[in-house]
Amino acid sequence: MNMDLWSLYRKLPFWFQDFLITAVNVNQYRIRRKGRYSFYRKYYSRDWSSDKRLWKAESEVRLADFLQFSCSQSMWFSSVGSSSLSFFPLLEKSDLVKNLKRIKTIDEKDAVVSLTGGTTGASMKVLYTVEDTQERFALLDTFRAGHGYELGKKVAWFSGKNLATDRDVKKGRCYRDDLINKIRFFSTFHINERNFNSYWNALERFSPEFIVGFPSSVFDICEIADRKGLKLHNRVRVFFPTAEVVLPQHREVIGRVLGCQLVDQYASSEGAPFILECTSGRLHIHPLSGVFEVVDENFKPALEGELLVTSFTTHGTPLIRYRVGDRIKLAPPEECCECGSTFPLVERIDGRTSDYVLSPENGRVNLGNLSNSTKSVSGIIAFQVIQDFQDEIDVHVMASDLFTDSERAKFIDALRERVGPTMSINLKVVNDIPREKSGKFRIVKNRLST
Ligand SMILES: [Zn+2]
Repeated sequence: MNMDLWSLYRKLPFWFQDFLITAVNVNQYRIRRKGRYSFYRKYYSRDWSSDKRLWKAESEVRLADFLQFSCSQSMWFSSVGSSSLSFFPLLEKSDLVKNLKRIKTIDEKDAVVSLTGGTTGASMKVLYTVEDTQERFALLDTFRAGHGYELGKKVAWFSGKNLATDRDVKKGRCYRDDLINKIRFFSTFHINERNFNSYWNALERFSPEFIVGFPSSVFDICEIADRKGLKLHNRVRVFFPTAEVVLPQHREVIGRVLGCQLVDQYASSEGAPFILECTSGRLHIHPLSGVFEVVDENFKPALEGELLVTSFTTHGTPLIRYRVGDRIKLAPPEECCECGSTFPLVERIDGRTSDYVLSPENGRVNLGNLSNSTKSVSGIIAFQVIQDFQDEIDVHVMASDLFTDSERAKFIDALRERVGPTMSINLKVVNDIPREKSGKFRIVKNRLST
């Protein structure tokens, strides 16, 4: 829905808004679950992960098919003329923005269109075939089913939808309901101290079994509840975070307040393959959804670095060796997981490659490293680092009473250790840190290059 439609929507009576969102949602689920969906549910439910030879062979077949399809159907890849992945050129975000016409294999009218706000501000469009979306949802649904969720069980969603007006939220209506699938969609645009009761009461009354959405939004609610000593009466079973990097303090506070387990996943809206958390709490690459290459600054294979993804569910807009803009760290290949899966293990997901501070002495200090600097510091609710100059960063901190002068000094020391001795650190305690237009929270904003 575009902006005008949303503002019209918000003017309707609540019951009618619920009715509309239910209708749209039921229809969406109907389309996602038609066609090849049940085939892929069965396909992904098979026990691939315990037999390394089996999934490796299957993954190679799927890769060969996908590369051949892309070379014959996409103008962009037609000149590659090789069946080996390493001969394919890297695909940049800017290629998708400027050359979609040559990359895509289908007409927009036959496609499921996905729009994403790129980091540069240019909005990016990707076209999916219907079958690809059915396969993606089948894989996600199989994953969530493995952790207990099936459509129809009570679930609360916290994603980037601006569903409610300030007035609605004050009246306690910070959500809209899909009454048939038992989904409560919460607005993520109004979560703050003032509106806390509205959110907390709505959660208590709904008492969801599962939660899906932005970890920073769910964290914001839980952090206030935690300070007030509140815990949800009916425990949530599982929280499935989406779209953002999960930080250690997210796990700790959300787990404490909601009483739930947090089960992470990685996939981008452009259609990257999946990394999914297993029942033992480790992250595994799903090798039947695509190929992950991790490379260093010179594009040589590495354990830690930037991701190049090749995604088997992107027949509409083939992503081959695509620089998706995220960093991960792989676990050593000989490491095994307790869960019994032999799918490759990921040590951690570090988030966007553009989310780093450039230090005169230490070079790139990435998000994962920076967010660790709050570890032993009390009283930080949220923080954001902004770099506009080479030798200066602004650090905005939302803090509680526990953030005393000595905690403040500890935090600055921890930051100093990472950004080096010559960087000026301007720390400011603020009441609020605004989110991005998409509703996402960004910890690091590097504006040096823009
Ligand atoms: Zn595992």
